[in-house]
Amino acid sequence: MITKILSYKCRIYPNKTQIQKFEKDLKACRIVYNKCKEKYEQDLKKQEYTKDEPQGKKYFYNLLQQLIKQYPCLQETDQRILIDAYHNLIRAITLYKKGISNHPKKSNTKTLNSFKIRPNPNIYIENQKIHLDKYGTIKIHDKRKITGKILNYIIKKHYDEWYIIVTTRQQTQKYPKTGKAVGIDLGIKELAILSNGEKIHNINLEKEDEKLNKLYKQLNRKDKNSKNYEKILKKVHKANDKRTNKINDYLNKLSARLVKEYDFIAMETLHILDMLNKSNNDKIRDASWRKLIEMTKYKSQAHGKTFIQVPSNYPSTKLCHNCGYKNNKLTLKDREWTCPECKTFHDRDVNAAINILIKAQEIDRQNKIKNI
Ligand SMILES: [Zn+2]
Repeated sequence: MITKILSYKCRIYPNKTQIQKFEKDLKACRIVYNKCKEKYEQDLKKQEYTKDEPQGKKYFYNLLQQLIKQYPCLQETDQRILIDAYHNLIRAITLYKKGISNHPKKSNTKTLNSFKIRPNPNIYIENQKIHLDKYGTIKIHDKRKITGKILNYIIKKHYDEWYIIVTTRQQTQKYPKTGKAVGIDLGIKELAILSNGEKIHNINLEKEDEKLNKLYKQLNRKDKNSKNYEKILKKVHKANDKRTNKINDYLNKLSARLVKEYDFIAMETLHILDMLNKSNNDKIRDASWRKLIEMTKYKSQAHGKTFIQVPSNYPSTKLCHNCGYKNNKLTLKDREWTCPECKTFHDRDVNAAINILIKAQEIDRQNKIKNI
């Protein structure tokens, strides 16, 4: 048995009073986030923080108490919600210090639009309605039965729609062992090419892109301050969401199939994203590759399968998988080639996938030796 985290995202239909309550709590979260951030940065300059700084927990707790005194409106929001807001700030600062993300910015209605509610017996879903403790009963649009242990509820505002995300912990069976190994090369024409020769097509987004293009054209013709502009903008957001959902769904199913079918999965390491020199299409493709790698890695670990990434400087395309000859003359245009040394005929991408598998198996062997 393994445990996995599963989130259910459901549309909810709060009434006016409930929306006011949600908005008030969101505003309180923004105040806590921004004011704590301001104070932290001031103290950082004064270097008063040095003693308390490493964990920062006590420091931020005191800050929060001061804030609640200073802004009486914060008293109307559950303290646990406010504590989560400053936890988010601490997390952002920690990630920044580790060099993983940029310096946290001041939050606004665009960047901070959700808050967390801890589960309690007064919160439950029943007959297409969610009973949300102090917020009252709200109609919910979702027929799925929520199973597993509920860890938290997140209330999220997306443009002018409201959602609840129910995070659960599930117990599931591990995928059985199959004894099979695979190397995967990420491609441009095809999404992924497997070392056994299978080619996995790119996600077909023609319909979605066509619709978006049409909407963007309509949007450009409208006056930015008109009601019609707003109306079409809403449609753009919806179409964009649908497109993202389709990509995520495709990648989720693909990564699950790979982890089910193979015990050993080898993929490449992508270069750090250089946003400046990339076209929009490149960025989207890069994002899909990264998502596929992350999803496959996560699922492999959850199901006890081996997942190994070969270094990004490994010349998987140029090497002949049969004799190891390095073909430095290979250009991007060459889809097929014959090794001058051993005369093996190569499909460029399948050869790369086989090399990725060979290299990953070598890394795996070295790791095992190290661990003895
Ligand atoms: Zn060869």
